[in-house]
Amino acid sequence: MLEITGLNAFYGDFQALFDIDISLGAGETLALIGANGAGKTSLLQAVCGLNHATGGIVLNGASLTGLAPQLRAAAGVGLSPEGRRMFASLSVRENLEIGANTGRKGPWSLARVTSLFPILGEFADRPSRLLSGGQQQMVAIGRALMSNPALLLLDEVSLGLAPVVADEVMGALSSIRGESEMMTILVEQDVARAIKASNRFACLLEGRNVLNGTSKGADLDAISRAYFGEDTA
Ligand code: ATP
Repeated sequence: MLEITGLNAFYGDFQALFDIDISLGAGETLALIGANGAGKTSLLQAVCGLNHATGGIVLNGASLTGLAPQLRAAAGVGLSPEGRRMFASLSVRENLEIGANTGRKGPWSLARVTSLFPILGEFADRPSRLLSGGQQQMVAIGRALMSNPALLLLDEVSLGLAPVVADEVMGALSSIRGESEMMTILVEQDVARAIKASNRFACLLEGRNVLNGTSKGADLDAISRAYFGEDTA
């Protein structure tokens, strides 16, 4: 279980998130939707301990509040960051193995990641800088999975990818959805894609959570109004 309560995040004097409450149950995937600057990345960073935040974050009964990022990773938070952020000169295998440094036990291993993304097995010894954007995205997701996270955070995994490649990446993620207790928060600009890949959604507007719902049968017009800040009454 993930329980986020009264979460605020700050960059100096600027407040990026206001009083966010989100809870997730085992195996759930939440799509975090919102326009540029709505606060989606700030929320993921707050969970990881990468910005200044106040409020409660409890993962499977353990409070993450105040913990350093590496302790949150050890507690089960795995992040695939926006922009992929890999070690360009290291091989694909070496990049993936970095994820396993948390020492957490679970179903994810190099073999499992390369069976999810077979191209990474083929290119295991290649420097990651030589991979295409889509393949690099697979490395970033695979590295997060290698930490055997209880909570997987995926920031804009389809950004900059050709639609067919984005669909391939999202399809791979959908294939593992619900097969374990791992929870996922998915940040995605493409609302239709985000809804398809999730079972719940939350829409942020200027740092506030303005709409929540279940993805199945979601009212896309209501989401669009919330996304653009139009009156949702
Ligand atoms: P995008 O889709 O553009 O990544 P987002 O919804 O992820 O948008 P955030 O990146 O979380 O939004 O940004 C939320 C607000 O916080 C924005 O107003 C942004 O300018 C501000 N912000 C984000 N990072 C910083 C930072 N390091 N320093 C100052 N302000 C920041």
